[in-house]
Amino acid sequence: MSLATGYTWTHKNIKLVGYSMAGICTSVVFPDADTCFDVGPGLPFQIPVSNILITHGHMDHASGLPYLIGQKAMTGQTPPTVYMPEALLNPMQQMMRLWEGIEDHTYQYQFRTVPHDVERPLKAPYFFKTFPTYHRVPSQGYTIFERKKRLKPEYKDLGPRELGDLRRQGTVPDEHYDEALVSFTGDTKIEFLDSAQVRQSRVIVMEVTYWDSKKSVENARTWGHIHIDELIPRLDEIKSEKIVLIHASARYSSNQLRAIIDARIPEHFKHRVDLFPRPS
Ligand SMILES: [Zn+2]
Ligand SMILES: [Zn+2]
Repeated sequence: MSLATGYTWTHKNIKLVGYSMAGICTSVVFPDADTCFDVGPGLPFQIPVSNILITHGHMDHASGLPYLIGQKAMTGQTPPTVYMPEALLNPMQQMMRLWEGIEDHTYQYQFRTVPHDVERPLKAPYFFKTFPTYHRVPSQGYTIFERKKRLKPEYKDLGPRELGDLRRQGTVPDEHYDEALVSFTGDTKIEFLDSAQVRQSRVIVMEVTYWDSKKSVENARTWGHIHIDELIPRLDEIKSEKIVLIHASARYSSNQLRAIIDARIPEHFKHRVDLFPRPS
């Protein structure tokens, strides 16, 4: 595992690959949906991915976009589709034009914005919606959903032969439903938790930048970040199977962070809180 390959985190059928350290790099790929949340400074593990979801324009989350677009072109891949907050669209297009001038080469890419609560497709059967986040610059989070199929409740006791008969008669015994799989916050204050789609996601990948009393809650809020002291009282609102913490400062070692989780997270919640893997 390294910065180039990313670190892998898994929970049941959900696998994520990425790297996150405040001020250095934040980028997490969800390979099943062919989707990458943020791109950090641009890293090799992101190159095969087709859909890029940018949370905000800080360099440790978004500066790698020209690199990634360039690498995908160089390896003959389909140009990526990149979603971002509306305020970023013009500056990012200007940046690409400048870089195209530097390289004397024209790149293909799709930059898009999307309002909250509007679905946009990813690799089927996945799609996403944005949710509000609260940072120092325009920002948004993303929830990836899976569209699934199940038998309608009135048919759930039928056997395969009876269901076959029904289908032959033209009755559709199934219904579609959507499962919120992974929500990714990027950088934000704790108020992102006001969004129900996030609290109900099976996995929340969320930032906690400040982990001890060397920085106050006030300090975290001033910089548009989360202090662990603000997360703990709100844990009971979260229905997720796993809460995966990213974006800790490089000042902390992974062992220090795990010790803080062990000491501070209430016992009944501990099995649901993970540190996203990172260098020791
Ligand atoms: Zn950041
Ligand atoms: Zn930021």
